[in-house]
Amino acid sequence: MARYTGPACRLCRRTGEKLFLKGERCYSPRCAVERRRKPPGEQTQRRRRVSEWGVQLREKQKASYTYGVLERQFRGYFDEARRKPGVTGQFLLQLLERRLDNVVYRLGFAHSRDQARQWVLHGHFLVNEHKVDIPSYLVREGDAVSWKESTKLKEFFKEIAAEAGRQTQTPWLSVDANTMTGKVVRLPGADDLQTIIDTRLIVEHYSR
Ligand code: SF4
Repeated sequence: MARYTGPACRLCRRTGEKLFLKGERCYSPRCAVERRRKPPGEQTQRRRRVSEWGVQLREKQKASYTYGVLERQFRGYFDEARRKPGVTGQFLLQLLERRLDNVVYRLGFAHSRDQARQWVLHGHFLVNEHKVDIPSYLVREGDAVSWKESTKLKEFFKEIAAEAGRQTQTPWLSVDANTMTGKVVRLPGADDLQTIIDTRLIVEHYSR
């Protein structure tokens, strides 16, 4: 599936917020949002008034940029979330969080979702002992995410393994640092899904 391949920092500058798309750089003074607060493109002195629709659109863009999902797939997640009884915005975020590339990132097995997506695509991960190379694969409660044995000989794995146990602050996931296996303890609930994304605006955007 097609995806955005331009500069990640440009997406943050477009939304005016840090979306943490580039791993360690995002926590350093080299972060483009820290250095240049203005959005990309030609700068004017005129302050633009953003419409209600524009605010909603920006929130949807924030979510799609953060999880690396393009419009068509994002709309698919929204439609699936809307079919479930309950809070649509919460289900939407839950679906996005359950993506395998996001779970690999949350487990601390990659420095960014982009890197996680690439490693999943290259077949470095197993889910319940079976190779899964689809970044959008949705994990379920009880699933175990581990590394392929041959990948454990690679330098990048050794670097990640050396940091194991320090990374995840995600209560619905757990990591066994000895075996480098992650477990989906439960699906993310409302308390786990408090992010910088206001899903109410996204629901309004698609309900117009
Ligand atoms: Fe966004 Fe990270 Fe780039 Fe900062 S360094 S602008 S948070 S992607």
